[in-house]
Amino acid sequence: MRASQFLISTLKEAPADAEVASHKLMMRAGMIKKLGAGIYTYMPMGLRVIRKVEAIVREEMNRAGAVECTMPVVQPAELWQETGRFDKMGPELLRIKDRHDRDFVVQPTSEEVVTDIARQELRSYKQLPKNLYQVQTKFRDERRPRFGLMRGREFIMKDAYSFDRDQAAAKRSYETMAQAYRRIFDRFGLRYRAVAADSGAIGGDLSEEFQVIAATGEDAIVYCPDSQYAANMEKAEALAPTHARPAPGRAMEKVPTPGKSTCEQVAELLKVPLATTVKSLVLATDKLDAQGNVTGSQVWLLLLRGDHDMNEIKVGKVPGLDNGFRFATVAEIEAHFGAKPGYLGPIGLKQPVKIVADREVALMADWIAGANEEDFHTVGINWGRDLPEPDAVADLRNVVEGDLSPDGQGKLAIERGIEVGHIFYLGTKYSKAMDATFLDEDGKPKVFEMGCYGIGITRLPAAAIEQNHDERGIIWPDAIAPFTVVVCPIGMDRSADVKAAAEKLHDELAAAGVDVLLDDRGERPGAMFADWELIGVPHRVVISDRGLKEGQLEYQHRRDAAATKVAAGEIAAFVK
Ligand code: ATP
Ligand code: MG
Ligand code: MG
Ligand code: MG
Repeated sequence: MRASQFLISTLKEAPADAEVASHKLMMRAGMIKKLGAGIYTYMPMGLRVIRKVEAIVREEMNRAGAVECTMPVVQPAELWQETGRFDKMGPELLRIKDRHDRDFVVQPTSEEVVTDIARQELRSYKQLPKNLYQVQTKFRDERRPRFGLMRGREFIMKDAYSFDRDQAAAKRSYETMAQAYRRIFDRFGLRYRAVAADSGAIGGDLSEEFQVIAATGEDAIVYCPDSQYAANMEKAEALAPTHARPAPGRAMEKVPTPGKSTCEQVAELLKVPLATTVKSLVLATDKLDAQGNVTGSQVWLLLLRGDHDMNEIKVGKVPGLDNGFRFATVAEIEAHFGAKPGYLGPIGLKQPVKIVADREVALMADWIAGANEEDFHTVGINWGRDLPEPDAVADLRNVVEGDLSPDGQGKLAIERGIEVGHIFYLGTKYSKAMDATFLDEDGKPKVFEMGCYGIGITRLPAAAIEQNHDERGIIWPDAIAPFTVVVCPIGMDRSADVKAAAEKLHDELAAAGVDVLLDDRGERPGAMFADWELIGVPHRVVISDRGLKEGQLEYQHRRDAAATKVAAGEIAAFVK
């Protein structure tokens, strides 16, 4: 490939709405172009990366015995009504109407359609197991699309669905996928963890997420460095032993703070400007020292309704509570206050606040009612002693760094991750709802046992960049680089020798199956190198008259501090 034929459009500055490195760099490298909120064009340079991700996924899915199909992006609502999801799913499900006023959805995932295929095409146990997959456009009307391809509204997902005779077979299908996923993520060349996960809205009980490790990740993952234990925070909390309540040494105290709302006090404490739209805000924790200082990372940050508009930060209603109670994520709070991660430092937190599950917020209703009294700030609260302990508080759980791992093998550590894959054992949730059966050996109809398996194809490049970049740009792992090698001739327009050598090297590498690009645009060396460092091509070969006189080319890996002189014939060995 020649750069002059290709479309290269790098930018000096990232757009103002790009918050994280991957979003900034993908925009600057001309890999994606924004068309609307969470809607992007995959530009030629970005598409090459996406195609490489897809190719690896296809190879390993096929190797694992899955078969590819493509299901429609626009799907009739009838199927979604059979499972109840047409009504049950929130606004993330994009519902549209055709000219006859018939309802359709734009697929956020495809359980209904694939189950419909199975009930028609898989009639006998002899056809099982089957695993059908697609690599297809999805649409989720995310409440807050952000970080470029990381959380788009339109994105590409590989989704696979397994159909089995019984639970044992379904679990084997799940295991086959779990292994295929490990091969896939190994091949991407990224640091990742497979973590136990809650099965979430889709249902079932066997579930793992594949998390690429990155400080900017939206998920907290809990693992034990001394054993195999790893889970996402929700799952870890569900399994963890109940934490000790704060020592009851300190009495509950209402500190008079005339005229100051809790929110104002916290804003003062956090040294962040108090957003005028937030009237009351409560910071709560069960990790207090004798002085009432927060000592752990387990902090609940709750925003309470006032006479203000909370639309920007609310994420959901808390069941069983007055609808005024809302909770927000760290990122949302940060975005709202315009503060940087770690801004909770002044009150002694080791980590930013974590998101709490609905049930936990609900349990704190009484506490909140007490703490948020006009002109008072309540400290030293002890559940059960100061406020009635709701039944469920007994199993209020949390996990903090240093806790004993559930397998007893060591202490827990916490890090952040980006969910790039997710596998589920679904059971018969969809097959039952849609009456999807096959004839078993005994001649009787049985519902399929199902599993589903997703990979965020377009999220993956963003995750890869979060893990692999420097101040100059992206550093792609070879496996998913848009080009493996860029040949940079210096003075190609002036020197026939340079031109000939560059073309020869390009052609030889291309013939050897190397994904090579020849930069024949005639850019000055500085601008040319800056472009390729930004785009992140892992291997670069510079060809100049001076080098050619010595019979040498300059090779530099994107991570190398300096170039190495290499004889022209030896380049191939460096880039394979
Ligand atoms: P998240 O927790 O990030 O919202 P999810 O759990 O809703 O993701 P799944 O339903 O498990 O997502 O979908 C399978 C995969 O699709 C995810 O593991 C993720 O890699 C990818 N994915 C989900 N939502 C998006 C999105 N909005 N943009 C890009 N990729 C996404
Ligand atoms: Mg989601
Ligand atoms: Mg998730
Ligand atoms: Mg998921």
